[in-house]
Amino acid sequence: MRIFVTGGAGFIGSRFVRGLLADEYTGWEGAQVTVVDKLTYAGKRANLPTGDPRLTFVRGDICDTDLMRDLMPGHDAVVHFAAESHVDRSLASAEPFVRTNVLGTQTVLDAVVAGGVERVVHISTDEVYGSIAEGSWTEEWPLAPNSPYAASKAASDLVARSYWRSHGIDLSITRCSNNYGPYQDVEKLIPYFATSLLQGASVPLYGDGSHVREWLHVDDHCRAIALVLNKGQAGEVYNVGGGNERTNRALTERLLELTGRGWDLVRHVPDRKAHDRRYSLDETKIAQQLGYAPRTPFEQGLADTVAWYRDNADWWRPATTDKDAA
Ligand code: NAD
Repeated sequence: MRIFVTGGAGFIGSRFVRGLLADEYTGWEGAQVTVVDKLTYAGKRANLPTGDPRLTFVRGDICDTDLMRDLMPGHDAVVHFAAESHVDRSLASAEPFVRTNVLGTQTVLDAVVAGGVERVVHISTDEVYGSIAEGSWTEEWPLAPNSPYAASKAASDLVARSYWRSHGIDLSITRCSNNYGPYQDVEKLIPYFATSLLQGASVPLYGDGSHVREWLHVDDHCRAIALVLNKGQAGEVYNVGGGNERTNRALTERLLELTGRGWDLVRHVPDRKAHDRRYSLDETKIAQQLGYAPRTPFEQGLADTVAWYRDNADWWRPATTDKDAA
C-alpha cells in the first residue's frame, strides 16, 4: 500500500504520518508514505523521522501542477492536510490562503484524477460553519465562514465535493474542531500560552475571553481520519468533535494553573475582527456510522501537552516572541 500525505510536516499531518509509520491505523500496516510539504513557517522536517525506509519526504508546493502529477501515480490513497491554517494571518493577508487552500486543493485533485488514485480524504474544519450560539452543527448545516481562512477552507470543501460528483472520485471530507497536542506551531492558542507562561511572559486574551471553542486531542483526530479513510462513504462529510467546550477564559485559567502562573500575566487585548463566538459540532454521524469515539480526556491531554512543551523547549524556543498572535 502507498499513501500520499500533503502537509505531512505540519501539526496534524505529522502526527498522522508518525501514526502510519508506527502501524497505528488498521489496514495501513507497512504502508509506504509519501509526504509533500512546502515547509512554510508552520511545517518542520524535524516533525518526521529521518532514515525510515517507508517514508519519502518531498519538499514541494501543492500548487505545483507538474510536481503533483509526477508524484501521484501509484498511490492508493491521498490524505490532504496541506493548508494555510491560522485565522489571524488570513486577516492580515488572505492571498496565500486562497492560493494554497483553494487552488492547491484543485491541483491535488486534478493529479488524483490523472493518476487514478482510488481514495481521498480532504481534511477540513468546523470553522466553515461560522459561529453557533446554541446547539451543535450537523454535517447538513449551511456553510457560513466568517474569516478568510474559514472561507478558503469552505471553498476547498466545495471544490473537493465537486470532484467527487464530477469525476467520481471516492472522496470524503472531515470537519474537525480545534486540535491540541505536541508539535503544534507556537502561534496557536494553547502552545503560545503554554510556552509564554512557562517563560514567565505575558499572554493576550481576546475581548472578554468568553469565546467558546471545542477541543480535541490530535491523536483522536488522527484516529478519526483513519476511520474515515477506511470506512467513510464517497461524497460524505464527517464532523469530528471533542465534546470539550471551554471558554478561552476557562482555558487560560487552566493553563495558568498548569504553568504555576497568575492572572497578572494575562493582558486583555481588543477582540479579533468578526471573532466567532462559539463552535460546537454534532458528531453523531461519525460515532454511529463509523464507531468513532475520542479517547483522550481533556484535562489529562492538556496537562500532557503542557508537559511536552516544558520538556521540548529546543523544538519551540527559536520561534517564540511576545506577540498578539495567539
Ligand atoms: P499546520 O499549519 O500546522 O500545517 C500545515 C502544513 O501544510 C505545514 O507543514 C505547511 O508547511 C504545509 N503547507 C502549507 N502550504 C503548503 C503548500 N502550498 N504546499 C505544500 N505544503 C504546504 O496546520 P494543521 O493545524 O496541522 O492543520 C492541518 C489541516 O487540518 C488543515 O487543512 C487545517 O485546515 C485542518 N484543521 C486544523 C485544525 C486545528 O485545530 N489545527 C482543526 C480542524 C482542521
